[in-house]
Amino acid sequence: MFPAAFEYHRAGSVDEAFALLQKYGGDARVLAGGQSLIPAMRYRLARPAVLVDINPLTDLGYIREQNGMLVFGALARDAALERLPWLPARYPLLADVAKVVADPVVRQMGTVVGSLCHNDPAGDWAVAALAGRAQIVVRGAKGTRTVPIDQFLVDSFTTAVADGEMALEVQFPTPAGHPAASYQKLERKVGDFATASAAARIALAADGTVADAGIAVGAAGPTALRVTAAEALLRGQKPTRDLVRSAADEAAKAADPVADTRGSAEYKKAMAGVLVGRALVSAFAQLGIGGMQ
Ligand SMILES: Cc1cc2nc3c(=O)[nH]c(=O)nc-3n(C[C@H](O)[C@H](O)[C@H](O)COP(=O)(O)OP(=O)(O)OC[C@H]3O[C@@H](n4cnc5c(N)ncnc54)[C@H](O)[C@@H]3O)c2cc1C
Repeated sequence: MFPAAFEYHRAGSVDEAFALLQKYGGDARVLAGGQSLIPAMRYRLARPAVLVDINPLTDLGYIREQNGMLVFGALARDAALERLPWLPARYPLLADVAKVVADPVVRQMGTVVGSLCHNDPAGDWAVAALAGRAQIVVRGAKGTRTVPIDQFLVDSFTTAVADGEMALEVQFPTPAGHPAASYQKLERKVGDFATASAAARIALAADGTVADAGIAVGAAGPTALRVTAAEALLRGQKPTRDLVRSAADEAAKAADPVADTRGSAEYKKAMAGVLVGRALVSAFAQLGIGGMQ
């Protein structure tokens, strides 16, 4: 199917893109990688009257470390992350995700910020963003504001970016000490959206107990879901096999998936637990702690 008719604007600067978004409000949409928006328009699931194409703004393709954060500009593409040789050692969670979003062709165009703005319940980046405590910088009529990911993901395909606004960048805190994190995705075939997915991030205290944990699951509700009960359970505890099992059980309990062609709700719920378990086993292994299976 062809998209409904729309007006196309090629932005020449961030200011111009923003002015266009302010002018057209709810009738306009940002076009980033186009890997979700264009298919949605072709199926007439989205019918924006105006597209504001930010692809000419190559300055927004930055990936840089600043102020204790790894920052991706609104045009940082999945494929660019995948090619960073230092990413797996420094940011294992992000490196895991960058390998499994869609397929190499989609990753060539798709952006991290675009994925977060799209907020597909089965999307990969939102799960990592929750576990990694990311925040998104949004430009609105009153200037820029920084929105923690928990507040950014409002509902399926809905975020804290209001009509006339634009997300400028996403910031992931740099792990303190030895980074230990993992993203686990169950997919029917390579390139598919997740049937279920999970992210786990662990930081240990000097005494070997868990100082901080980030746990989230995907395809487990209207948006990716942070499993605060599992995080609380892990904090302050020595890593043990039973602790991993209990955290995984909390994730399965919290997950509230819907049945679809990828599986029943019961199956996905069980898989949320299994994948959190696997992500934790992998994260602890990165810290030299084995025997957790
Ligand atoms: C075949 C296929 C398989 C896929 N598989 C997966 C998968 O396994 N996992 C996964 O997570 N994703 C998957 N995707 C989605 C893909 O990763 C998308 O690229 C991504 O979700 C959206 O990024 P984008 O840059 O293409 O955004 P676009 O499609 O350009 O935009 C998506 C939405 O976000 C808005 N938006 C984008 N950027 C901004 C901004 N800076 N400010 C405000 N609003 C903005 C747009 O207006 C639009 O509403 C798949 C896509 C395809 C086509």
